[in-house]
Amino acid sequence: MPKTDITHKLSKPIVEKVAIIGAGPGGLATAIALRTLGFDVQVYEKAQDFRPAGTGLGLTPNGLNCLDAIAPGIVETLTISGCPVRHILIKSSTGETIREIPSRNIELYGRPLLTVWWWRLQQTLASRLPADIIHLNHRCIGFEQNENTVEINFDNGKTVYADLLIGADGVNSVIRETLFKEGKANFLGSMCWRSVLKYHHELFDSHETVFIKGNKQFMYILNVGEGYTSWISRKLSPDCSLSRNADEVKSRILNELAGWDESFREVVEATPAQEIWEGPICDRPPLSHWSHGRVTLLGDAAHPMAPAIGQGANSTFEDAYELQACLSESSTLEAALTSYEQRRSDRTQIIQKQSALGEMRYYETENSVEQTQQQPKMRPINEFHNWLYSYKPSVIN
Ligand SMILES: Cc1cc2nc3c(=O)[nH]c(=O)nc-3n(C[C@H](O)[C@H](O)[C@H](O)COP(=O)(O)OP(=O)(O)OC[C@H]3O[C@@H](n4cnc5c(N)ncnc54)[C@H](O)[C@@H]3O)c2cc1C
Repeated sequence: MPKTDITHKLSKPIVEKVAIIGAGPGGLATAIALRTLGFDVQVYEKAQDFRPAGTGLGLTPNGLNCLDAIAPGIVETLTISGCPVRHILIKSSTGETIREIPSRNIELYGRPLLTVWWWRLQQTLASRLPADIIHLNHRCIGFEQNENTVEINFDNGKTVYADLLIGADGVNSVIRETLFKEGKANFLGSMCWRSVLKYHHELFDSHETVFIKGNKQFMYILNVGEGYTSWISRKLSPDCSLSRNADEVKSRILNELAGWDESFREVVEATPAQEIWEGPICDRPPLSHWSHGRVTLLGDAAHPMAPAIGQGANSTFEDAYELQACLSESSTLEAALTSYEQRRSDRTQIIQKQSALGEMRYYETENSVEQTQQQPKMRPINEFHNWLYSYKPSVIN
């Protein structure tokens, strides 16, 4: 979107009131970050309560570095509740071991691969904020802005005003849609079923993350700590239609896993049907800029990506850190938002592209995985991972 007069007329050198839409990892991390700058930050979330939700996530050194810079000590807290991964086990659908990969993240980048439950991450971040700045049951339905303020509207009839509006409202962001009118996200041709439940998988005794490769489908079983297991099953499918009810979802996924080793099916069988999430995997095309006047985007709202390389939440924490840095270093809001986009746009475009590529690699056949095993050893340090995981925030004074 071309910059208009609104941007150029901004006169306040610094913001006072900030409204964040979305209390996911991005919105909450940003709220913590911006409160340390002395701003009056309010977070608006459509959910009626904070109930257990979301999937198991892998937090990587780049995301953890940023998170720790925003909220010192929080990585220790997450390490206690989550699970630092030492080994990743790759299995065939019938249970044969294909490969065992030791995680070298600590050795190479100083931080582990940490698997956590999205809900636990949300709770941990929320515990760093005063409860009265998080407004549940506030679904944003749109905004209007002028040179002095942003007016933000909610479906409960409320209206609030802020100097800066941050859309951290995920892949189907209302803030992004109001700015860019793109419509629905791109369906990437694969379906996902997932849940988190109290369960101990026998393989966790020696491996915390298990990747099971089937024919054009795969499954992750993650130890996310505190006795919880996250399973995520994905299948290449041109059809993104959803099942009619929870029982149908459960039968469908069990049907997809017919012939798979019992220990992989058992975790699905143990999951209550109404706690299995079913949905399509989607992304959106990269944006070259995503701020307009007093409004900007962050996390999945700005750069939603396929989950293939596990960078959605991690890149969200990078955004939160960089937005804090830009707002603290710049003398005007316009300069801060321009600098934020400049710092984030190229990097997130590369991550989005790699995620889309990685998504397709997932669906190579079992044979091609075996062939990959027989090829000469990969480079000891994958250049892309090195670039990705080495990202470190500078200290803000
Ligand atoms: C299967 C799967 C596996 C994944 N694995 C990983 C991984 O290993 N590592 C990783 O880094 N990422 C992973 N991700 C991605 C990660 O979950 C997201 O990138 C991350 O949660 C983005 O955070 P966010 O705060 O930007 O958005 P979200 O987590 O989507 O949060 C958005 C929040 O905004 C709220 N909201 C939405 N609309 C409105 C509205 N109109 N008004 C008010 N509130 C609203 C929502 O209720 C939600 O609380 C995975 C995703 C999936 C689907």
